[in-house]
Amino acid sequence: MKIIGLIGGMSWESTVTYYEQINQLVNQQLGGLHSAKILLASVDFNEIEAYQRTGEWEKSGNILADEAIKLEKGGADFILICTNTMHKVFDQIQKKVSIPILHIADATIAALKEHQMKRVGLLGTKYTMQQDFYKERIMNAEIAILIPKGDEIDRVNDIIFEELVRGVVRQESKKEYLKVIDSMIARGAQGIILGCTEIGLLVSQEDVTVPIFDTTLIHSEQAVRESLAEIQRKGS
Ligand code: GLU
Repeated sequence: MKIIGLIGGMSWESTVTYYEQINQLVNQQLGGLHSAKILLASVDFNEIEAYQRTGEWEKSGNILADEAIKLEKGGADFILICTNTMHKVFDQIQKKVSIPILHIADATIAALKEHQMKRVGLLGTKYTMQQDFYKERIMNAEIAILIPKGDEIDRVNDIIFEELVRGVVRQESKKEYLKVIDSMIARGAQGIILGCTEIGLLVSQEDVTVPIFDTTLIHSEQAVRESLAEIQRKGS
């Protein structure tokens, strides 16, 4: 089994989901008392979020790159950055280590293709929804992206930073998210990307009529596939 390196804490609320999902999936596949081999580097989100707000992405990238180096030295075979937003500095981090970092958008693209998605709605932080670093990767795979309109962008973003990353889950906020999702479906979205690792705390597939793509779960699944690839190859 390959050792999975996680850079978490952004926020720790969703790192819990990664940890749980990865262990559950490994146990489902290997049975018995099997669990995942994980090294977790968990950062102080207050520092990272402050750099996001001031636009000092390189500084936050340096913090994450240092954690990636520690994971590599500790024996991780590959790394996951457990947030969509911080993939803005993916290249900066990948340059500092020789083990691969599995990009969350690439995992998501594979899932979107599997479901023949051509046009999807994207929910995430304002950085993920409005800037190009994330959307462009998906659009380059020939999948069109819709984002919420006008004030909805701020509401979606505020609910992430004021509630979800603090572990606050409110029914009113869920209603607001579902309204935004409905309007993207009305504009032609065939599916919805939960492009922030905490949104799965608020919205799940039962709430929505089109397929949803929860990036936390998709990224976790990809990590497990990679971790068990050798075992499965020998077994077949
Ligand atoms: N976890 C969120 C994401 O997936 C937001 C936290 C952050 O800004 O890193 O984008």
